Amino acid sequence: MPDFVDLHIHTNHSDGRQSPREVVDRACQLGLKAIAITDHDSVSGYTEAARYARGKGIEVVPGIELSSAQADEDIHILGYLIRPGNKKLAETVKRFRRIRAERGKKMVKRLARLGIRIDYEEVLAAAAGAPVGRPHVAEVLTARGMVRSYNQAFDKYLALNGPVYVPKAKLLPSQAIDLIHRAGGVAVMAHPMLTDRDKVIPELVTVGLDGLEIYHPSHTRAARKRYRQMARRYELICTGGSDAHGRNGRYGEIGEEHVPYSCLEQLKACRARRKQTST
Ligand code: AMP
Ligand code: ZN
Ligand code: FE
Ligand code: FE
Repeated sequence: MPDFVDLHIHTNHSDGRQSPREVVDRACQLGLKAIAITDHDSVSGYTEAARYARGKGIEVVPGIELSSAQADEDIHILGYLIRPGNKKLAETVKRFRRIRAERGKKMVKRLARLGIRIDYEEVLAAAAGAPVGRPHVAEVLTARGMVRSYNQAFDKYLALNGPVYVPKAKLLPSQAIDLIHRAGGVAVMAHPMLTDRDKVIPELVTVGLDGLEIYHPSHTRAARKRYRQMARRYELICTGGSDAHGRNGRYGEIGEEHVPYSCLEQLKACRARRKQTST
């Protein structure tokens, strides 16, 4: 059997439910060879997972998922093999955390205007130290019985253009790619189909994009084929993962996508090439 990896996993250090330890335990149980922790605007989950995984026969790859946007269109950029202690990256993460906190308070205010009263403190408790996101607001609404389900919280209030939606500060894709490169990492465009952004791929290539996420639960078979062709055409690395959040619904489960180990090898080779040219 070939060796498999999962290169897109969230933990409770962003908006996932599972702790880094739970993620590592599950990945070991499944016999995965490597996992990448790709939390939104946070790298602390990786640090904990890597420490805990020592001696367990599984490789933990440092990663991050940065939200970027161009002309109001969301583009998620994954950074792999970054130096987690990189100063510029740490500063950006800190700034985004502050902005996310303000945004969280705004969402609570908008809910109040609709007659739905929750405390920002409850949202903070749901986030448990992670940068505040819409999923944490959805969790409070669900726990308080103000919606029937987590997904309904999004459908009714939090989804893009919903009454409680507050846009988030975002980098330009070129800035996200640059930040990842400066932190020694490799930049990959996440789930292009989910965000419906095929047309920006050629442009991102010109600003240094290294790879394309091919394997993702939201990708149809036809999409995978299309992205593979694009990857070949633009000489991009193919990567993928489950985008597991440890929640039911629209998210994948750890190990769900059968991503071969060779994807990780390609990321490593790309990183090595980059290092060579920068020295
Ligand atoms: P935020 O970064 O705070 O804008 O939250 C984005 C996260 O919310 C995504 O990574 C998903 O986990 C989740 N999300 C966004 N849209 C939906 C939706 N329609 N249904 C369920 N979860 C969603
Ligand atoms: Zn998420
Ligand atoms: Fe994403
Ligand atoms: Fe994700």
